[in-house]
Amino acid sequence: MVRAFCCVLCVAFLLLFSGCAAYTATQPHTGVVLIDPGHGGFDGGTVAIDGTNEKHINLSISLMLRDMLAVCGVAVDLTRDTDAALEDASAVSIREKKVSDMRNRLTMYASADLVISIHQNHFSVPKYLGTQVFYSDNHPDSRLLATSIRASVIRRLQPENTRELKKASDGIYLLHHTTVPAVLVECGFLSNPDELERLKDVAYQQKTAWTILLGYWDYTIQK
Ligand SMILES: [Zn+2]
Repeated sequence: MVRAFCCVLCVAFLLLFSGCAAYTATQPHTGVVLIDPGHGGFDGGTVAIDGTNEKHINLSISLMLRDMLAVCGVAVDLTRDTDAALEDASAVSIREKKVSDMRNRLTMYASADLVISIHQNHFSVPKYLGTQVFYSDNHPDSRLLATSIRASVIRRLQPENTRELKKASDGIYLLHHTTVPAVLVECGFLSNPDELERLKDVAYQQKTAWTILLGYWDYTIQK
């Protein structure tokens, strides 16, 4: 059993490296990809009924995505790689911390060439589930990237997913204000018990990161 699992892992790595070789040979220059694991530190994001904080799942998937992109030769950076938000040391109140955190993230977005933000969703009715992708309307490439990631989700992760792409409104501050190509991936709903269990599972997190990577990959080929 262990041997079979190792073989599966070996094949997966071989596919990854052969895929990456083809990728780096065909990929146009895209500059730095910035991955933004939503929330962190004082800001836990949404909270599941079992106490799971969104910020931890965001970070876990983002670190996996960072490593996968790096293996493929993509220049990649993170807004955070620990459980910490980006607020200024001078910020005291929660509001001050939130405002400075957003401002500092937006500054990081401005120096990147493309942004992928990772979040988890929540709704008052537990039956709703599924990945949804939002895009910034300030750069035409954002919608193209979102379309590629959505197609990858349907192809590789959730064939039954019917969630439409959504243009970010002013309620999604960072996407609404950034001018670089940017998307936000709501990987799933922490308010859905089955999806919550999947999102807490490391193997599913890896599959989600892999799905987003291949969506990005398809985007660069179309560019
Ligand atoms: Zn969030």
